[in-house]
Amino acid sequence: MSAGDPLLQMSLRVEQDIFLVRQRGREVAAAVGLEHQDQVRLATALSEVARDLLRIVGGADVAFHVVHGPDGRRALRVDLTPASPLPGGRYEPQSGAVARLVDTLGVTSAEGDTVVRMSRRVPAAAQALTEVRLAELRAELGHSAPGSALDELATQNEQLIAALDEVRSQRDELAVLNAELEETNRGVMALYTQLSEELEETNRGVVALYAELDEKSAQLRTASESKSRFLANVSHELRAPVTAIIGLGRLLTDSASDPLTPEQSEQVELIRASAADLLSLVNALLDLAKAESGRIEPEWADVDLRAVFGQLRGTLRALTNRSAVELVVEEPPAPAVLRSDEVLLSQVLRNLLHNALKFTERGEVRMTAQRDDERWRLSVSDTGVGIRPELHERIFEEFYQVPGASRVGGTGLGLPYARRLVTLLGGTLELTSEPGRGSTFTVVLPASGA
Ligand code: ADP
Repeated sequence: MSAGDPLLQMSLRVEQDIFLVRQRGREVAAAVGLEHQDQVRLATALSEVARDLLRIVGGADVAFHVVHGPDGRRALRVDLTPASPLPGGRYEPQSGAVARLVDTLGVTSAEGDTVVRMSRRVPAAAQALTEVRLAELRAELGHSAPGSALDELATQNEQLIAALDEVRSQRDELAVLNAELEETNRGVMALYTQLSEELEETNRGVVALYAELDEKSAQLRTASESKSRFLANVSHELRAPVTAIIGLGRLLTDSASDPLTPEQSEQVELIRASAADLLSLVNALLDLAKAESGRIEPEWADVDLRAVFGQLRGTLRALTNRSAVELVVEEPPAPAVLRSDEVLLSQVLRNLLHNALKFTERGEVRMTAQRDDERWRLSVSDTGVGIRPELHERIFEEFYQVPGASRVGGTGLGLPYARRLVTLLGGTLELTSEPGRGSTFTVVLPASGA
């Protein structure tokens, strides 16, 4: 630190000097640019220390300096050199709060003397304290006549009142703030309560919905299981008597039996035809019930598509012998082998070919096989009546037949069964069709098998 000549020096010997030291301290603080609050703080600390020193050692010499702090900032420093040595060379302000009014306060030795030293930093925004300015200040402070103790008391009173006012207004502000805070808190609490109530309500709703959903799906499962069981049981029970009826009909029309009148044989023929329809319905129902209950397990093996196609070509050709429909079964491209279940796959393709022939009056029914990297596409296309787009999904429902289609016979169970089987084989059954032009049903299977 560097300190030139003091800005001001004065001595403290009698009670009245305390007021003077205080008053001049404030003047110096103001002159070097301390803010108003800091002026009061420094003056108060100074008068407290002055009072202590007067009592303990009978007074002191007071010197005001402007110095450079270690951070490069200026500070106002006050040195109080005691009139006689401090007991034990130590000093503690009587009021503990004094040290908080300034930046530093302590006992230090300067030029052989023990001095009580305090300092307060000058704000950076203050007017620059050049040597010229300091000289000016020295001159000004030297000239200005100190006021009386009474003046200082009056000033001190004013300051006290101002400080009190400030405290009061701060307290009022605080009270307002507190009230606002309380209000906000209440609002937040209310909102929070409302939100958590709403959340709880929503949660209850969701839980109830889930419970209902579980219950419904359990019911659905049970219903579907009982439907399959019912179908399987009834079909099974029906099969024996229906087969018996067919057998009896055959017996009645047998050449070995008594001859029937033409009318009787016509009626017996009707009974036989109806029984045969009934039997195919019962068989279809049994198949479907079996597939739905998961009792059909594909037997995976390498299936030679050429063999499958050849067999279907052979068995179905008979159906087209006397019709205006040509059946074309193309040769699948080699290597025509895939992993699947030959029986189930043949069943599906036969079903599709049967339908195609059934719903086509003229033109052709064509079966093809194509393969790309991942899939086999086995298509059965016809030039028949076609299916309206809005029915493309419905025809896969059990018992659904396009209105008018039942004329050509059938149960409405073939396609749902075929789709089930294709799903079991790991594939899909797709349809494209245009009414009046024909339909194409395509079995799409993974080339690597399921
Ligand atoms: P079914 O053939 O025993 O009536 P399906 O389930 O096999 O039962 O077929 C359902 C319905 O879909 C048929 O009744 C028919 O209306 C329609 N359908 C199926 N295949 C074809 C086709 N190739 N061309 C036109 N309509 C078809």
